[in-house]
Parts: sequence; structure tokens; C-alpha cells
Amino acid sequence: MNEVQPSRPSARSDEAFARIKAAVGEKGWTSDPAEMAPRLKDERGLWQGRAAMLVRPASTAEVAAVVGICNAHGIPIVPQGGNTGLVGGSVPDMQFNGIVLAMGRMNRIRAVDPVNNTITVEAGCILAAIQQAAAEQNRLFPLSLGAEGTCQIGGNLSTNAGGTAVLRYGNMRELMLGLEVVLPNGEIWDGLRGLRKDNTGYALRHLFVGAEGTLGIITAAVLKLFPLPRDRQTAFAAVPTPEAAVALLNRLQDSTGEAVTGYELIGRLPLDMVLRNIAGTGDPFGARPFPQYVLIELSGQGAEGTLRAPFEETLAAAQADGVVLDAVFAASTAQARAFWKLRDSINEAQKPEGASIKHDVAVPVSRVAEFIARATKAAEAALAGVRVVAFGHVGDGNIHFNLTQPLQGWTREKYLGEWERMQRIVHDLVMEMNGSFSAEHGIGRLKMGELVRYRPPVELAMMKTLKAALDPKGIMNPGRVV
Ligand SMILES: Cc1cc2nc3c(=O)[nH]c(=O)nc-3n(C[C@H](O)[C@H](O)[C@H](O)COP(=O)(O)OP(=O)(O)OC[C@H]3O[C@@H](n4cnc5c(N)ncnc54)[C@H](O)[C@@H]3O)c2cc1C
Repeated sequence: MNEVQPSRPSARSDEAFARIKAAVGEKGWTSDPAEMAPRLKDERGLWQGRAAMLVRPASTAEVAAVVGICNAHGIPIVPQGGNTGLVGGSVPDMQFNGIVLAMGRMNRIRAVDPVNNTITVEAGCILAAIQQAAAEQNRLFPLSLGAEGTCQIGGNLSTNAGGTAVLRYGNMRELMLGLEVVLPNGEIWDGLRGLRKDNTGYALRHLFVGAEGTLGIITAAVLKLFPLPRDRQTAFAAVPTPEAAVALLNRLQDSTGEAVTGYELIGRLPLDMVLRNIAGTGDPFGARPFPQYVLIELSGQGAEGTLRAPFEETLAAAQADGVVLDAVFAASTAQARAFWKLRDSINEAQKPEGASIKHDVAVPVSRVAEFIARATKAAEAALAGVRVVAFGHVGDGNIHFNLTQPLQGWTREKYLGEWERMQRIVHDLVMEMNGSFSAEHGIGRLKMGELVRYRPPVELAMMKTLKAALDPKGIMNPGRVV
């Protein structure tokens, strides 16, 4: 098998950098440290890097020109979207001597086809702008996540983002029909086909989804649209245990079918952190604390309010059986947004609480409650006083199992020194339960060791073969994923 060689810029790289500058023009590059600084550190403050230059191309042709020059001179490239990724894939390290290729200027909506239910967008479009463009045509683009005001669709595709509507609409991969990609040799592949049936050889587009910028630069995509729901009902329910949360999910699916769109578990501790640290939030149940909560969203095409009666009936029956302890329905769009703010602020709310060792894991939905119970017990036994912040997309089996440092006796550095030990406990359990050690955030640099540890050699060998075939010089996001 071919091994990828580490990239070494040639002695002619000054000339190459000059050619890159000429290819993108004045607005398309900077080496000003102040402008580059936010692009060289990650969202969670775990990594800091350096780069020779920040390059901001404005068109596919410019991306192709830049990548072609980099390929010829062995200059490594870190592709970057909104830089909201959580595994360190979008920032270079301190040894890096290549370019960060930021896609934000490629932010045009190229076309909306409401009849074909597709939208064609450039990679630098902010996710929220795509949702908005779809809504203006009475259509829904369903990918939704806490970072949607900042993350870009190229980043969403490259991480195969999940978010809060996977249960109903699937991951980013399921929402994509075609791609335009600049390959590591600078060639442009136009695969922007908006077809729902197209069995013409290998489905190459899927290679680039979840590849985290290691196989090429995604420059544009055709995405699926859906009818804009006419009816949307949101409730915040208190439940005694994660088992009850899963039981309630099944009851709601039985009574309303595919209408269950979002189903997010929130433990009492993460809710407390949000209420303590995020301005403008309030407990939906006032001063009455409950052990666990689920934020539930139902949506459908019936007239407004159609789903309310079956939703209320199901919650009332569940309350009579002790599966639900109490529930509050959002009386307005503003209240629904306030409920979602509680969920979407958990990451931010953890920051002032100290360091967190984070796990983004998935197990079969039927084993979510068992996982939370066993992992909590194991973590608490391994590190006295650790604060378990378990929450997330329980409807699709994806739990963010975060371990925040104890209230006393630990510095941030000392606590983060426990990462490997605590991660091993959690990930070994996940693997024993036929789960995934990275459900939606990807591998980046954070989980490369885990990939080698848990995936069979044959799988790793296939990945390395693909990488070597498409990027033999190893210029695309070196040192990430494989
Ligand atoms: C508050 C918050 C909530 C979040 N919630 C979720 C969630 O619910 N679900 C979820 O899946 N993630 C979530 N994330 C993680 C993150 O938002 C997603 O991974 C998102 O898809 C990253 O998009 P981005 O544009 O910021 O990509 P970046 O962080 O810039 O990049 C991510 C990776 O993609 C590569 N890349 C970026 N653009 C391109 C391109 N055009 N071509 C090739 N490679 C590219 C980068 O090199 C990097 O490896 C959350 C993050 C935050 C901060």
C-alpha cells in the first residue's frame, strides 16, 4: 500500500506564495497576525497553531488555482469553514508551515429549485443563511445545530454534521445530493447533480462527506429541501430517568409517527449550569427541580395546532404512568426559542465551570439509559467529585457525555491531564456496547489515536489507500483523521 509522505514546502515556496497571492488578489489573503489569530485557535481553546498565510478565495477557480500551486510546491493546506469544529480539525498546529484556506467568501446561494426540492450553495454559506433562503421559498433545510449562526455548509459536509433533527431527516450525508470539489491536484470535479436516483458507478460524493478536509476542498453542494412544516409543537418535559426519556420517545413515535423531529435529553446538572451562566434563561418549571428533562419538538404538514391534541394526550397518559413528571408546552414561537436556548447553550455554559473532558458517543437508542448509568458510575468511581454533564440527541442514540472538573481541589491543567484515563473508561464501555466513540464531531486530531485503537486494521488500510490515491503528496489537512 502507498504511504502518504509528509509535506515539505520546496525551496521555491516564496515564489509559490507570491503566485497564491496573485491568484486570489488583494482581498484574498493576509499574513497579518491580528487578522489571522482567530483562525489559528479552536472553538474550545484546546489548540493553537501557526500558518504562513490565511487565504480566502472567492470562487471555485481561485480555489483550484491555489490548490494547484500548493500541490506543485508541496505546501500543506488546512481547509477552514466557520471554525466551530470540536475535534481540532480546522486549525493548524505549531509546526505548520502552509496555508489556512478559509471558505467564507464563497457564500453565494447559486440556485433554489422548489419543484425539485433542492438548493445549490457555495461551501462558505453560513448554515443559518441556507435555512433562511429555503424558508423564503416555503421550504425547509432541516440541518440545525447550536453553531448554525457561524458554521458553514462546507464544514457541515466535511464533518457529516448531525444536530437536532437527525431523528426525522438524517445526517448531513442524507441531506446532500451532489458536490463540487477541488481535488488535491487542483482539478475541479463537478458533481453538482440534484438527482435522487443516480447509480452510475461509485457514489464518489460520499467520499468527501465526513472526510474533514483530508481528500479535497468542497466548494459547492446540492442539498435536499423539504416542505416547510405548517405545525410545530414544542414541549419541555420532566422525566424521572433516562429510561423514562427513551420510553416516552417510543410512545410519541407510536402516537404521532414521523412527527417527532427533535428529542433532546438534558440532565439537571447541565440545566443548572445554563441557568447559572447564560443570561436571559429561566427554568421552565420555576423553582421545582427534576432529575432529567427532554426537549421535544413535533412538526407536520397539518394545519397549525393539529399535533397538539395527540401530543398532550400522550404526555398525559405517560404522566399517569409515572413516565413523565410534568410538562410545559411552548405557548409561542418565542417560548419555543427560549426552550431551545436552554439546550443550545449547554456547551457555552460549561466553560465558566472549569475544564471538561468531552465525549461525543452513540449507542443503540435501546441502550442509552444503560450507557448513561454505567458510564456515570464508572466515571464517578474513577475520579471523586467529577461532574457528569450528560445530554444530547437521545432520539438518535447520540449522547454528549461530558465530565466537568470537580468543584474543588483541581486546576484546569491537572484535570485535563486525566483526559486519556477518563476517555479510556468511557470509550471502552461504548465499544463494548456496540457504539461509536465519535458520533457526530469526527476525528480531527483529537480522536486519531482512538481510530487506530478501535477500528479494525482492514478499515484503516482502506482509508489510507483512499487518502494515498487522492492525495499522494499528503497536502490536504496533514496529520488529521488518518
Ligand atoms: C455550540 C456548538 C454546537 C454544536 N452542535 C453540533 C451538533 O449538534 N452536531 C454536530 O454535528 N456538530 C455540532 N457542533 C460542531 C460543529 O459546529 C460542526 O462540526 C460543524 O459542522 C463544523 O462546521 P464549520 O464550518 O465550523 O467547520 P470547521 O470547524 O471550520 O471545519 C471542520 C472540518 O471540516 C474541514 N472543512 C471545513 N470546510 C471545508 C471545505 N469547504 N472543504 C473541505 N473541508 C472543509 C476542516 O478542515 C475541518 O477538518 C457544534 C459546535 C458548537 C460550537
